[in-house]
Amino acid sequence: MKRDIVIIGGGIIGLMSAYFLQKAGRKVTLIDENDITNSTSFGNAGLLSAFDKAPLSHPGVVGETIKMMMKGESPVKLHPKFDYQLIKWLLSFVKNANEERLKKTLILFEKYGQDTIDLYKQLQKEEGLDFDFHHTGMLSVFTEQDTYDKKLKQYNYEDSKRFEVLTKSRLEEYLPCASSDVKGAILFKKNAHLDPQRVMLEMKRYLMENGVEFILNEKIEDISFSDDKVISVSSKSATYEANTFIMATGYQTLLAKRRKKQLLMTPAKGYSITFEMPEELRPKTSCLFNDLFIVMTPRRGDVRLTSKLELGSSNPAIVKAQIDSIKENFKKYTKPFEMKNIKEWSGFRPLTPNDRPLFGKDEEYDNLVYAMGLGWLGMTFAPSIAKTLENLIVNDLKNEEDDDVLLFSGFYQGESPKKHLFCLIN
Ligand SMILES: Cc1cc2nc3c(=O)[nH]c(=O)nc-3n(C[C@H](O)[C@H](O)[C@H](O)COP(=O)(O)OP(=O)(O)OC[C@H]3O[C@@H](n4cnc5c(N)ncnc54)[C@H](O)[C@@H]3O)c2cc1C
Repeated sequence: MKRDIVIIGGGIIGLMSAYFLQKAGRKVTLIDENDITNSTSFGNAGLLSAFDKAPLSHPGVVGETIKMMMKGESPVKLHPKFDYQLIKWLLSFVKNANEERLKKTLILFEKYGQDTIDLYKQLQKEEGLDFDFHHTGMLSVFTEQDTYDKKLKQYNYEDSKRFEVLTKSRLEEYLPCASSDVKGAILFKKNAHLDPQRVMLEMKRYLMENGVEFILNEKIEDISFSDDKVISVSSKSATYEANTFIMATGYQTLLAKRRKKQLLMTPAKGYSITFEMPEELRPKTSCLFNDLFIVMTPRRGDVRLTSKLELGSSNPAIVKAQIDSIKENFKKYTKPFEMKNIKEWSGFRPLTPNDRPLFGKDEEYDNLVYAMGLGWLGMTFAPSIAKTLENLIVNDLKNEEDDDVLLFSGFYQGESPKKHLFCLIN
């Protein structure tokens, strides 16, 4: 039996792609090696933070990381091993951390971040879904005087729709658990947050009820090609033929390797700690502890901390020392309170070296579509990218015919599409 569209991977980008394609009248099958209850898309912080937040590869990032390492507060851990791909990734990351790219990236973040916020709102309104979504801004909290001063210089103008530098009493109101060691905070009002687990489960339920076929606990291990098409994908026990295939496998690159391509992205492990805390100390909105790379997100009934960026490992084990380090760093700047009913989690960001996701059609097999490399901002951009992919597939466009692919996909670096068509390293 030949299917219409087969999506491999039911993380946020897989589910969002399924939604827009199904809405456009296509028959969608979604295959996942698990049961879609605990991927990276479940345990993350749930920030929709495309505004007023620097990309990961920004000028000064290396110096900042070294400074944090010296203070014992660095979120970054590099597992020492000789890995040619990782070295290439690191070199590209450093090369990309420049002013020119920063400016471009910030503009693109705002464009696709706003599209995403609008789409989440639309989905909730039109489909009656509940994402625990709050458009209440993101508080950027500073624990170092010099970074706070630097930020204040950058925001030395009035724009009350965009940001508010909080006074001491406003800080107490927004983040009542902050200790007196916090130097200051700026509320960036355009950002939002949601509960990623709720988004995933709501989307899965909606898609199941609306005719999307789910094939769960089925790992796709191989792809068959003709001269210019993908014919089928297969697991150990079954083969699936389709008109179009979408590769949405998160940090896992097994299938890209079967296509004999290596995507320039690396798994970057992170952790979350979800717990209950005293009501009177809960933050009013999501908070990014800027100098610690710790995010605190209030949710219905609990609060979630996320942090850490480990490169060079794909071991999903929850390492106690990393959890303890997040708690210790967090406690240095907050009033004492007891975390109750703690749930610990780890997951992998599919991280590209320039904060650009990898999406678009394969240059040789045009019924193979990539939806990869969403990095540390997958919740922030997935709906917008999925909508672009729907347009590409439904209107049978080439990458070059879609401005959004050309502008935002990491497969294009602003040069000739032919030259850079798929910034994949052979
Ligand atoms: C600690 C942490 C905090 C984060 N915080 C935020 C945040 O605040 N805001 C934000 O925007 N982003 C955040 N992110 C990033 C975000 O979580 C990711 O970008 C996003 O979840 C990636 O989604 P995905 O669909 O690409 O991958 P995944 O969620 O990993 O989904 C991929 C799916 O593919 C399946 N799969 C893989 N290989 C196969 C195969 N061969 N066959 C079948 N199925 C397969 C997997 O089982 C999985 O279900 C955070 C990430 C981490 C780790």
